[in-house]
Amino acid sequence: MLRTARRLHQALAGRPLVRTELRWPSLGDADLVGRAVTEVTAYGKHILTRIAAADQARPGPRRPTVPDEPLTLRSHLRMEGRWYVHARDAEPWPSAGRASVRAVLGGSEWTAVGSWLGLLDLVPTRSEHELIGHLGPDIMADGFDSEAAAPRLLIDATRAVGAALLDQTTVAGVGTLYMAEALFVQRVSPWTPVGEVDVAALLDTARRQLLRGASQAVPSTTDNPRRGLQTYVHGRSGRPCQRCGATVRVAEIGPAGKQRPAFYCPTCQPGPTPTDDGRPQKPLGANPAYRENRRPGGYR
Ligand SMILES: [Zn+2]
Repeated sequence: MLRTARRLHQALAGRPLVRTELRWPSLGDADLVGRAVTEVTAYGKHILTRIAAADQARPGPRRPTVPDEPLTLRSHLRMEGRWYVHARDAEPWPSAGRASVRAVLGGSEWTAVGSWLGLLDLVPTRSEHELIGHLGPDIMADGFDSEAAAPRLLIDATRAVGAALLDQTTVAGVGTLYMAEALFVQRVSPWTPVGEVDVAALLDTARRQLLRGASQAVPSTTDNPRRGLQTYVHGRSGRPCQRCGATVRVAEIGPAGKQRPAFYCPTCQPGPTPTDDGRPQKPLGANPAYRENRRPGGYR
């Protein structure tokens, strides 16, 4: 998310919007043309586009559905969402018929297009905390303190560490990929009770991986940009572990109704697993339950 926010910030910040379309049921009337984007930032998995107050001198009809005060457009990518940035000269783009497009923010040089966004909200910036106030501290933020954040994960010490990491109310910003990769580096099974884990060290590892990934052309926790080798275990079920050669496995983790895939090496990450019967794991994609979510870059 930090990577996306930085790209949007570079494309849009400091300049007035010349085109805005929010294709979202509650936001269809929102007209933000003429307002400057002040900042684009990420909080956990949320992208916050902050927009200046309306220019009172701007002629034209007032839109009572959009307050004149500074506003924040919050987007969340969920599984399939993406923000693309195109040179304004590349228009007309996107075509009006593209159902996947949820938001268009056009600046003087660049146009940002949000596709398949999972969430889109427009609120006064002063109310931003109501959107994200339930989230834990952002693991990628400057000044994030692993020691201070660790007790938030330990509120229920019996919970599986992988599930505690994915719970955005404990710490915000860790998805399935960095959950799996950080636990692999720490050599901890995702199903280990969080009370038995050095949580501060785990958070430090996840934060280091996330920040490095945001700065790499091809995000890779292994520093190997080759396809299939960009991660230690995430998205690699059925393939050999890059460290020990054992077969990487995947199983679901988390509370009922909110299960997410957790990839792990049973040899490098000893500890409890829900299906630890020694059966070889089929490659990802062989299981129809996962195929629906499969994408070229693997899970996120
Ligand atoms: Zn291994």
